Amino acid sequence: MNKILIANRGEIALRIIRTAKEMGIQTVAIYSEVDRLAPHVCFADEAICIGPAPSSQSYLLGDKIIEEAKKLNVDGIHPGYGFLSENASFAEAVTKAKMTFIGPSADSINTMGNKLLAKKAVMDYNIPLVPGTEEALKNIEEAIRVSKEIGFPILIKAAAGGGGKGMRIVKEEKDLEEQVQMAIGEAKSAFGDGRVFIEKYLESPRHIEVQVLADNHGNTVHLFERECSIQRRHQKLIEEAPSVIVDEDLREELGKCAVQVAKACNYSGAGTVEFIMDTDKRFYFLEMNTRLQVEHPVTELITGIDLVREQIEVARNKKLGFKQEDLSINGHAIELRVCAEDPNNNFLPDIGKLKVYNRPHGPGIRVDDSMYPGMDIPIYYDPMLAKLIVYAENRNTAIDRMLRAIEEYNIQGVKTTLPFGTFALKHDAFISGNFDTHFIDKYFSSLDNNNIDEEESKIAALAALLFARESKNLDEVTEKNINTNSSWYKSRKQ
Ligand code: ADP
Repeated sequence: MNKILIANRGEIALRIIRTAKEMGIQTVAIYSEVDRLAPHVCFADEAICIGPAPSSQSYLLGDKIIEEAKKLNVDGIHPGYGFLSENASFAEAVTKAKMTFIGPSADSINTMGNKLLAKKAVMDYNIPLVPGTEEALKNIEEAIRVSKEIGFPILIKAAAGGGGKGMRIVKEEKDLEEQVQMAIGEAKSAFGDGRVFIEKYLESPRHIEVQVLADNHGNTVHLFERECSIQRRHQKLIEEAPSVIVDEDLREELGKCAVQVAKACNYSGAGTVEFIMDTDKRFYFLEMNTRLQVEHPVTELITGIDLVREQIEVARNKKLGFKQEDLSINGHAIELRVCAEDPNNNFLPDIGKLKVYNRPHGPGIRVDDSMYPGMDIPIYYDPMLAKLIVYAENRNTAIDRMLRAIEEYNIQGVKTTLPFGTFALKHDAFISGNFDTHFIDKYFSSLDNNNIDEEESKIAALAALLFARESKNLDEVTEKNINTNSSWYKSRKQ
């Protein structure tokens, strides 16, 4: 493989291009009209405009992407995550067009892309499953019978669901029929597939997932777990590796299970097996994500393995260069998803222009982003702007490092999840490791300390600027590089 096209945008496109360059592979970026100045476009060796801003007219146009790739003599396509990454027909079409799809086979994607098919595929291998229905619900009588058997509360899930969407918690039998009907309607419109099923709703769960890697020669290993319990709307916000509650024995058990799940669908490449864990540390298989995961950097940092490089080598048909016993955990990594969202307003997406954008630097910091100052944040795509990842020799130092990095990270123009990161990492529940997926609901209402309104903050920033110039004669200090969230700034504001 000498030339790959990255069928994606933003930070993940840039991240893949970086490894490809290090491997001496030529890169082709694709972009929509609004992304024409995006960093992934500038950094790739070649770039092609694929259509207007809406992803249905650009990043999701599999046939067009393949056609353009052929014209440019591309021999491999990396789908990143989201968009076409879990689209089995796209994977198949890439292979038919005599190019390599950098990911698993269309069959593996098909099986694991449907939560019910995935459960069926692993059933013979002694993998623990959350109690519930094994098939799509046939009628309301069945829903009532199963819910009574496993006990309320229950969760209705869409078989084709993803991204935390299409789930409904039902606490009492009287609400069941209405909720099932609503779930079916939602599943049809969101995923084009109205099949839903029931799972026991675990009241205080943790989301623990395991990274796996498999080659085409029968070798499958796991790269340990990631803790992803800090979530909003069933979507992850903070991830870390390793998990504070997983000891060596549990790690081995989880790892073996994950490898078995991968083998059950003849997996090839990098994938993630997701589990949900109850308060007694019993874990249950949720689903498998057949692609590179947003939070893959935390695993890279604790194992020293570049997962994109491994994906490309596996797609080249190479054998894995290591065995399970060669892998070990070194240190601790934490990732905060920096999303253009307002933590004070239920984490609803925010839009705007990046008036100021200054990344944190220094020891143990990795920022996977794709932004520049002055950039307009497009409204068409996922609100995740960047991933702030820290690495240190142990968890406590990693927490301190993340807090320092957040303070140094200066984003003005859109609201972001950065201040929530500070809240979470200073919270006793997070520090002690005693938290579950309800962390936000339980402990977080709003960021009172950060509720400075814009006009007030502007005046205060100017006052701070004057103060800095007068007291330190720092002519180079400009309004731009004053971080209104910093403790320096706040101490002067009081
Ligand atoms: P999706 O594919 O939409 O991401 P998942 O099945 O991976 O859906 O679940 C996403 C999140 O929803 C989990 O991380 C967890 O917070 C919550 N969840 C899923 N299943 C259950 C369950 N049975 N009980 C409690 N929470 C659950």
